[in-house]
Amino acid sequence: MIRSPTIMPTAISKLNKTELHRHLDCSMRFKTMLTIAQEAQMIFPATEKEQRDFFLVTSPMDNLGIALSKFQKAQKLLFSEQILEDLAFATIQEASLENTKLLELRYSPTFIQDGHSHLSWDQIHQAFLRGIEKAQKAYTIAVGLIVIIQRTLPREVAESLIDFVINHKNTVIGIDLADNEDGFQAKPFEKIFQKAKSAGLSITVHAGEIPTQQSILNIEDSIRFLGANRIGHGIQAIHSPSVLKLLRDENIPLEVCPTSNYLTQVVPKLTGHPLRSLFNEGILLTINTDDPGLFDYTLSDELKVVHDILGFSESELKLFQKIGFEKSFIDKNKKSQFNPFFEDL
Ligand SMILES: [Zn+2]
Repeated sequence: MIRSPTIMPTAISKLNKTELHRHLDCSMRFKTMLTIAQEAQMIFPATEKEQRDFFLVTSPMDNLGIALSKFQKAQKLLFSEQILEDLAFATIQEASLENTKLLELRYSPTFIQDGHSHLSWDQIHQAFLRGIEKAQKAYTIAVGLIVIIQRTLPREVAESLIDFVINHKNTVIGIDLADNEDGFQAKPFEKIFQKAKSAGLSITVHAGEIPTQQSILNIEDSIRFLGANRIGHGIQAIHSPSVLKLLRDENIPLEVCPTSNYLTQVVPKLTGHPLRSLFNEGILLTINTDDPGLFDYTLSDELKVVHDILGFSESELKLFQKIGFEKSFIDKNKKSQFNPFFEDL
């Protein structure tokens, strides 16, 4: 394996960063999880080791399905508007403290509402907006919110969720299609994603995450039919010269999350991650944490992995930040104020 010259961890923490793929509803830190679980008198294990096993995914799972089912435990903690507001604030505060200047957060109203029917989609959305507004006043950071449509939703729920997003488009920068691709194709979402696109929303789609033929096809369908401006993960593109060409021709970046791919075992070993091969193919790449609360790490940790294990140089890390800035869905006027943080990279 090629190793880049060592850079100090402080160089990574000082780097002005962008992050485009972070699930806000999977960003709660372990300490906060414990506090909320205790206050709500939930039943959970007694020792720290068991508690970490219960709430977090810090070692490789057998597959993505098992990892997603673990997420349900932390989801149970998202039961009040105050918790959601505080989560948004804390997530942005933490990002700002590691020098993230531009941050896109995504959340799934239906995931949060599951078992919490006392919370309406609007209450969930407004709670996050309050946290975001408060944090943007306190810190120098541009934040945008993406709403997730779960690919497992019944059609009529997905349709009303799209209408909800369109009605709130002044406070949403885009939509995403997420959840396990296994058995759920992207193509059936063509009509509702095109409706959102026509309403002015940007599109990203989780596609090409798991190692199947269908997931490679999902990348192509997401671009050709759903109007995707970016692809979440997309790493399976490496197996298809025609999909690689499509990504290049359309200038569509991938939101790559290497540690997530390893923990959910869509790549068996971090050293075997296709990030370098995708880079060599001329694909636009950004580096992201996906679910930092549940995976118990930060964007700086992720960039350190990309440097130390995947062999990317400091200037390549900077390039990823610049691509993230250019490809962010955040409004151009708002974004341009943050130009100075990225023009020298
Ligand atoms: Zn994701």
